[in-house]
Amino acid sequence: MELLGLREHHARTLLIHYRWDVERIFELLDQKDRDRLFSEAGIPLQYTRNAGPTSSAEVTCNVCYDDVPPSAASEMDCGHSYCNDCWTEYFIVKINEGQSRRVRCMAPKCNAVCDEAIIRKLVTARHLDIAERFERFLLESYIEDNDTVKWCPSTPHCGNAIRVKGDIYCEVECTCGCQFCFNCSLRAHSPCSCMMWELWIKKCRDESETVNWITVNTKPCPKCHKPVEKNGGCNLVACICGQAFCWLCGGATGRDHTWSTISGHSCGRFTDDQTKKTEQARRDLYRYMHYHNRYKAHTDSLKQEAKLKNEIQGKISISENKESKIKDYSWVINGLNRLFRSRRVLSYSYPFAFYMFGDEIFKDEMTPEERELKQNLFEDQQQQLEFNVERLSGFLEKDFQLFTDDEVMDTMKHVINLSNVVDRLCKQMYQCIENDLLYPLRTPHNIAPYKSKGIDRASELNISWDPGEQSSQSTKHSQDEHRNKQASNISGKRTHELHGSSSSNKRERVDVNGGGGALFDLNVPAEVVDKI
Ligand SMILES: [Zn+2]
Ligand SMILES: [Zn+2]
Ligand SMILES: [Zn+2]
Ligand SMILES: [Zn+2]
Ligand SMILES: [Zn+2]
Ligand SMILES: [Zn+2]
Ligand SMILES: [Zn+2]
Repeated sequence: MELLGLREHHARTLLIHYRWDVERIFELLDQKDRDRLFSEAGIPLQYTRNAGPTSSAEVTCNVCYDDVPPSAASEMDCGHSYCNDCWTEYFIVKINEGQSRRVRCMAPKCNAVCDEAIIRKLVTARHLDIAERFERFLLESYIEDNDTVKWCPSTPHCGNAIRVKGDIYCEVECTCGCQFCFNCSLRAHSPCSCMMWELWIKKCRDESETVNWITVNTKPCPKCHKPVEKNGGCNLVACICGQAFCWLCGGATGRDHTWSTISGHSCGRFTDDQTKKTEQARRDLYRYMHYHNRYKAHTDSLKQEAKLKNEIQGKISISENKESKIKDYSWVINGLNRLFRSRRVLSYSYPFAFYMFGDEIFKDEMTPEERELKQNLFEDQQQQLEFNVERLSGFLEKDFQLFTDDEVMDTMKHVINLSNVVDRLCKQMYQCIENDLLYPLRTPHNIAPYKSKGIDRASELNISWDPGEQSSQSTKHSQDEHRNKQASNISGKRTHELHGSSSSNKRERVDVNGGGGALFDLNVPAEVVDKI
């Protein structure tokens, strides 16, 4: 914040006021005068503070009207000075009310924000527990005010916060193991966008109530009004009460009928609006069921993840102990991890396709011809991926512990080869989604990019204020390195950070590996960091 020529706590006040959006602050600086920007955030325009105690003359506090020596009074940047006792009482009231940042000056109508360092100093001298609460509020408000920091959504809450640098459309894994979408805090759902995923989970909930199923698959009997299900191909249905009726119009009929006609009955079929609506609902439901079945099949396979891993571990240890030249079975584990990652991509690609090529979100973004073309392009890729994922799965499930060395070598070749194929196909499908499907849309629609190595794990934030150390530690996300580091703080909360690609509202057409660095390095306030 050197550019602004600000003192540190003023810079922070400004950042908090504008929700840590540095780009926005610079934008505002261009647009309106700096004075207004500062006064809106509560930063005093001129510093009237005197350089050091000018005299030993006593000052009169305008709250309690006591005369105190200058050392027993504190002056804020706005120039208002009160005795330390009055300030402290005031701060304690504010902190007890749950305030920590932007505590305003005591002077009537003064909009200035009090210096956190003075609050800390005065309150700590009197009430250590309240001072600790102040620090905690400050840390919490840092996280809640900061769009690049989020609490891990795990339940029960693990106490961690994650910070990303750059693009907030990314997926992260907390050190507690919880994988989530950083933007919406729901479980990781790429290549579904956040909007699609929210709609999808709502839809799954609604559809599972079978209300639609009943309206689409049954019709009320014209006599007893019970819902009757159609079975068989012809349009005559019979209720358990004995009443026969026509499936198309719902009208009561006799039982005498052929494949295409019911004797004595001629009906309007689709003339009725209600029937049309039901037919549309039926088509919609079938469409949903088509995507949902495939989505669910892959999700169910993923649920077997732990079980399959155990089984395979067992097979590996048998293999390692038998008479054989082959001792390295890391290809099995690598293949298994590739299988899980690509299955996840595959399962979320179904709700993606449901919305991408459906009427709910993008109806007006594509002509029907365009849509058909793009759908074919996408489904081609999706099917190729699906086919190879199942092949990989098939090879991994083989009882290779019983194989001869030659057979093991052959299986290994297939697993390694298919792992590469599947990784490449995932990448290609993301490229198709990002560049051919989402990019041409008028409304920006972002998804978390494909990560060949899986979801990024957050690394422990190195609690150091040295800028050199800051940049060197954070790009590496070693699996176990963070577990060895200890971190604790006043609230038992830790902050983790993650690098992403550069941020923008609408992504550039980029290759799926992302890239670019963070534009700004916004760090936890120094005082807060010191306490972590
Ligand atoms: Zn006073
Ligand atoms: Zn003031
Ligand atoms: Zn967590
Ligand atoms: Zn999301
Ligand atoms: Zn009936
Ligand atoms: Zn019949
Ligand atoms: Zn009829």
